[in-house]
Amino acid sequence: MSSSDQPNPKPGVMDIAAYVPGRESADGVAKVYKLSSNESPLGPSPKVTAAFAARNVDLATYPDGSAHELRQAISKAHGLNPGNILCGNGSDELLGLLCQTYLAPGDEGLFTQHGFLVYKIQIMAAGATPVSVPDTDLTADVDAILAAVTRKTKMVFLANPNNPTGTYIPVNEVRRLHAGLPAHVLLVLDAAYAEYVRRNDYEAGIELVSANTNVVMTRTFSKIHGLAGLRIGWMYANEAIIDACNRVRGPFNVNALAIIAGAAAIGDRAHVERAVEHNEVWLGRVSTALEALGLKVTPSVGNFVLIHFPQTAGKTAAEADEYLSSRGYILRRVAGYGLPDALRMTIGSEEANLGVIDALTELMA
Ligand SMILES: *Cc1c(COP(=O)(O)O)cnc(C)c1O
Repeated sequence: MSSSDQPNPKPGVMDIAAYVPGRESADGVAKVYKLSSNESPLGPSPKVTAAFAARNVDLATYPDGSAHELRQAISKAHGLNPGNILCGNGSDELLGLLCQTYLAPGDEGLFTQHGFLVYKIQIMAAGATPVSVPDTDLTADVDAILAAVTRKTKMVFLANPNNPTGTYIPVNEVRRLHAGLPAHVLLVLDAAYAEYVRRNDYEAGIELVSANTNVVMTRTFSKIHGLAGLRIGWMYANEAIIDACNRVRGPFNVNALAIIAGAAAIGDRAHVERAVEHNEVWLGRVSTALEALGLKVTPSVGNFVLIHFPQTAGKTAAEADEYLSSRGYILRRVAGYGLPDALRMTIGSEEANLGVIDALTELMA
């Protein structure tokens, strides 16, 4: 409903379905295991705490608006030119920034059927038209994406690996996607889970960005680096894209503590290795154990699994979610992603993973 005697949001805003974050608590349960937002069970590097202790951060002064220290640390860790890096208040901010910078009403933004919901929200917030492209086997379908490109298409989002499916497409497929796009269409490769992937044919997108003017890669400190609470993301793109986004972004979009923490975290390769190792072990164990219960688990290369439940009364995804919650295990319902019969489970601590396996063993018996 709109009326002229009150401020009305611009057209399209009230059509946006607000993002629903993973739940944090369960009623009446003392000990809760939050496995709903793909956070790291290892938490951040101890170097982050050490950096806070060593630095006397002056909270009364503005942070460095260019996040120079953080960009330097990222460029050193990944061998990139710091001038091609832009940091954000989480990569969510950067996804929105790209939409605000490149999309206008009438433009179309593409994303995949079971892709991250933030893309659709940010495309709509920019006043552009969201276009969902069907997946094949819960995986991005390059031919379908290319077939959906029209004269109005300005941006294509690809989460690789994808959340919430955990699937990925190999680098030759990403290259084929890029090769099929007109040069004025911006390809956004969201590589939030890149560090977890152990596949020879996977690349996060650095080379595609380096070799082209219409590709952006986004990354986050929220997952492998265990810093979701500080909100730190970054993107890698050519100078023209960085320059345009710098005109639109908030001048101090990354806070002083985030700059210090991110720089310390990305320098601690051993901690990243520990997190990858933990995930490698438990991703396999959890997937195998759940499949042994007769549940279908989509093969995942990320730090989470998509578990498919039967429609049998007592064993549906909704009932499993309720049962797990009552025991303190909070997974993610993914009906909003078009997956009403599935739950997404973050790979957690040993205790959490075994607890979920135990609970589902009882439920499925
Ligand atoms: C978690 C996630 C992000 C990261 O968001 P932040 O804003 O950096 O915390 C980005 N993309 C996908 C697909 C994700 O799952």
